[in-house]
Amino acid sequence: MNANLFARLEARIADPNRIAIELPDGTPISYGALRTRTARIANRLKALGLQTGDRVAVQVEKSVDALALYFATVRAGGVFLPLNTAYTLAELEYFIGDAGPRIVVCDPSREAGLKPIAAKPGGTVATLGADGSGSLLAGIDALPGDFATEPRQGDDLAAILYTSGTTGRSKGAMLTHDNLVSNAETLIGYWRFTDKDTLIHALPIYHTHGLFVASNVVLFSGAKMIFLPKFDANDVLKRMSKATTLMGVPTFYVRLLQAPGLTKEATAGMRLFVSGSAPLLADTHREWSARTGHAILERYGMTETNMNTSNPYDGDRVPGAVGFPLPGVSVRVADPETGKILGPDEIGMIEVKGPNVFKGYWNMPEKTASEFRPDGFFITGDLGKIDAKGYVHIVGRGKDLIITGGFNVYPKEIEAEIDAIPGVFESAVIGIAHADFGEGVTAVVVRNPGATVTEAQIVAALADRLAKFKQPKRVIFVDDLPRNAMGKVQKNVLRETYKDIYKA
Ligand code: AMP
Repeated sequence: MNANLFARLEARIADPNRIAIELPDGTPISYGALRTRTARIANRLKALGLQTGDRVAVQVEKSVDALALYFATVRAGGVFLPLNTAYTLAELEYFIGDAGPRIVVCDPSREAGLKPIAAKPGGTVATLGADGSGSLLAGIDALPGDFATEPRQGDDLAAILYTSGTTGRSKGAMLTHDNLVSNAETLIGYWRFTDKDTLIHALPIYHTHGLFVASNVVLFSGAKMIFLPKFDANDVLKRMSKATTLMGVPTFYVRLLQAPGLTKEATAGMRLFVSGSAPLLADTHREWSARTGHAILERYGMTETNMNTSNPYDGDRVPGAVGFPLPGVSVRVADPETGKILGPDEIGMIEVKGPNVFKGYWNMPEKTASEFRPDGFFITGDLGKIDAKGYVHIVGRGKDLIITGGFNVYPKEIEAEIDAIPGVFESAVIGIAHADFGEGVTAVVVRNPGATVTEAQIVAALADRLAKFKQPKRVIFVDDLPRNAMGKVQKNVLRETYKDIYKA
């Protein structure tokens, strides 16, 4: 059997006339048309010199052709390497130098800048604009609409996705055909996707969430997706009457809650709202249930591992928890120093193992080796616990752990207390260098619109809720927390901004 992801997708296309993708203006694209498009692009990639195992680095705006380029690359035996559209030329130079792609596909406006960068490791540049302009697709309809999908083993690479690299160098996570297909199949079963579903796809496709979770799950289940170029709350709301599911980052849900049109009636035809990529506030979860009658299903994953855990489809979707290990995935919590496996409710390092877990970091064998335990578990870098009922909880990234006066403080615990104070919308708790304590617990707080809650009130509210060492030494108010495109709070940015507050 050909284990190529595309061959396995193709084998599932029961009826090529079914609609795979609907454009914002309602234009339908059938599974058959998508297959033909990927064949033509695969033929173009071959003509550009693509050999089996070559990387195709892609920095383009979201479009159906950009998605087809992912499938075409994999189909042609290449390794797809998507890049955040926000990366600058200087950043691209690192990724391209590291990955050595044979082909770099970029927006036409970037061609001149990227040509010398791509040429260094021996690559060529092709261009693709959001409107389909550029050299990649020029004259494409004259190319054959068939392509013999390249035979691949399950363990061969399908994609390399660079991690966001907020500490140190960004690393290229090597994902295999089996990693991607197994996770899509697991999620289809767990979340009950069928060919009756329509997903509102408003995520970027340079990240694991929009590229693999959303697109693979939809297409492998024969479902349809409404493919939106970006997230706009009112637009998404309008589409719900013609859809059944939405996958989003927490910011989507926060913004949708601000839309007056979000009601039980507006969401009546929807069966599932999934959230992930960053922590969903328990308040957002509760407010969503109250407004719509739907409990958001929160799941947890990462670039390196695809999806690891999910709240259940049936049963309690617990606010603030990321649910149970997915079928076939083993999750445990271990002491970060000794590796000793911890018991229920004990906080430690989350470690995972399963067919979803990546092969290693590109060009970094030592880094790879140091992030796996001898028995094959991957050390995620997330701190968390598993409660007595088996739900996994994340308390923060390991690097966000605060050590103050020798005590460990887990930011999530403090954030949850602060978020519960009237007038607070959300908070981020960070450690800042402090002469007496090593690190001082510091809260950065966003108030609700019109609220006037003060530092003194927050300090007073926490006084009998938290041990003294956990209480913030300072509370700073801001209008918004800095977030990346996936909705993650950039604590590194906050730590840098406030690094001197305890000095002098
Ligand atoms: P990325 O590789 O960009 O997908 O980021 C993965 C990281 O996002 C994980 O290691 C977690 O720290 C975080 N993350 C993903 N999903 C969740 C979630 N549901 N709750 C809390 N953190 C999450």
